[in-house]
Amino acid sequence: MTKRVILVVEDEESIADPLAAALRREGFDVVTAVTAAAGLEAFRTRSPDLVLLDVMLPDGDGRDLLRQIRTSSRTPVVMLTARGEEMDKVIGLELGADDYVVKPFGAAELVARIRAVLRRTAAPAPAEGSELAIGDVVMDLRTRTVRRAGAPVELTLKEFELLRMLMEQAGTVVRREHLMDEVWDPNWFGSTKTLDVHVSSLRKKLGDDPAEPRYIHTVRGVGFRFSSPEELGTSSP
Ligand code: CA
Repeated sequence: MTKRVILVVEDEESIADPLAAALRREGFDVVTAVTAAAGLEAFRTRSPDLVLLDVMLPDGDGRDLLRQIRTSSRTPVVMLTARGEEMDKVIGLELGADDYVVKPFGAAELVARIRAVLRRTAAPAPAEGSELAIGDVVMDLRTRTVRRAGAPVELTLKEFELLRMLMEQAGTVVRREHLMDEVWDPNWFGSTKTLDVHVSSLRKKLGDDPAEPRYIHTVRGVGFRFSSPEELGTSSP
């Protein structure tokens, strides 16, 4: 079982240090950042399982970072707010935070909240050896095979990774840049047309009609979105 990675974006050492120590004791892998910029960088490079995000950061507002994270990811975010920032709680949750804690908080309380959020947001977490199942599309991450309505779908490596990213964030738009960065080399200089070619091929193999897609929707100028389990009319396990 691999350790869950928690990204702590907090500039106050008196909070961040004991917090990181407590999380490590609880068996989490901890990545820390003291600015919003470093936080975004760490988010992109480390793909944490959960983010603890301070509102007041030296180079900006934690809520702006939350907004940026939400353009491409549903990774759970717990806001760390100062006492009296009542509006921040509301705004943070409206922006897509999963929970918040008010400083000062006890480590035990925070760990309990983190575990609750991770449990709540677990499906469809891509744990190794598990399945991603949305509607009648089932992806086995261990054997790297895909089935649709029980029938095997033969995918190339890139198509598989593309589908995995879309299904992991089903219901939300995954930005073109994000897909390009994750599925192709970040320093890849080729045309982004490649992405469209792969999506088109993926649709064909899934039996999706580009004019009336059931699985993969194009969000013009932004990216692509895989249908949510609700849209496909089946609840995932
Ligand atoms: Ca702060």
